[in-house]
Amino acid sequence: MGKEIIMAENAGFCFGVKRAVDTTININNKDNKSNIYTFGPLVHNKDVTNFLKEKGINEVDTSTLDKLKKGDTVIIRSHGVSPNIMKLIEKTGANIVDATCPYVSAIHKKIKKYYELGYQIIIVGDENHPEVIGSNGYCNNSAIITKDGSNIKNLHNKICIVAQTTEKKANLDKVQDIVTKLCDNAVIFNTICNATKERQKSAEETAKIVDVMIVVGSKSSSNTTKLYEISKKNCENSIFVENSSEIPDWIFKNNNIKKIGITAGASTPDWIINEVIDKLLSFE
Ligand code: SF4
Repeated sequence: MGKEIIMAENAGFCFGVKRAVDTTININNKDNKSNIYTFGPLVHNKDVTNFLKEKGINEVDTSTLDKLKKGDTVIIRSHGVSPNIMKLIEKTGANIVDATCPYVSAIHKKIKKYYELGYQIIIVGDENHPEVIGSNGYCNNSAIITKDGSNIKNLHNKICIVAQTTEKKANLDKVQDIVTKLCDNAVIFNTICNATKERQKSAEETAKIVDVMIVVGSKSSSNTTKLYEISKKNCENSIFVENSSEIPDWIFKNNNIKKIGITAGASTPDWIINEVIDKLLSFE
């Protein structure tokens, strides 16, 4: 008897990543004369970056900006960049296409506004993440960056708190508790994006009702790794695959496996998910 495949309700590319990838592909389709680059890897997914390389779309970063020429195009990925990086790219004479996710741009606007009003900015997130590095540039790199508030001591009397879009709400709550005890004038923005939360909730719900859960995406993607951890907690038979070639044979051979769940990180494209589904269906 065939196996039932259950796709998690929210899985795969989020709005911001899809927009950045579609923008890049559309530009490449329209313009095959000039060089097209992405500033850093467009998404944390080797299949996508290899696909772009095959199309002649390469990466640049701050150390390789000198290879840009007037007329080249540089695409800013969904994580965004700081105003200083934007200026450095502008100086090269290349055309800039800004595919910063609108949710990230909204954080930039808040940081800039409150910094100019004299507020100390606190960003709840990972100091090494490109999104946080870019956001910090909107307050002249003066933000206090914290995961849980443990490095917050003496505070300014006016504080503005924002969060990395993929941060856990519990961390924002912890920082809010600490700050509001130390300062009377704190404005707090919950800038956590729903896409992450929705994917995690769907992965959990699906993992609970299947015999095997397949998590599709790059091992270097933190949001996909988190989906695997959640799946594993709710379904012991959870596996993490980058693409269809990594699906193990035992899934097909074990007759006790009747329901197979699938989820995928926000940086996993549909075509990789579809290949996984096709491979599972081919063994029906
Ligand atoms: S996770 Fe949210 S904020 Fe980040 S790119 Fe996707 S939609 Fe935008």
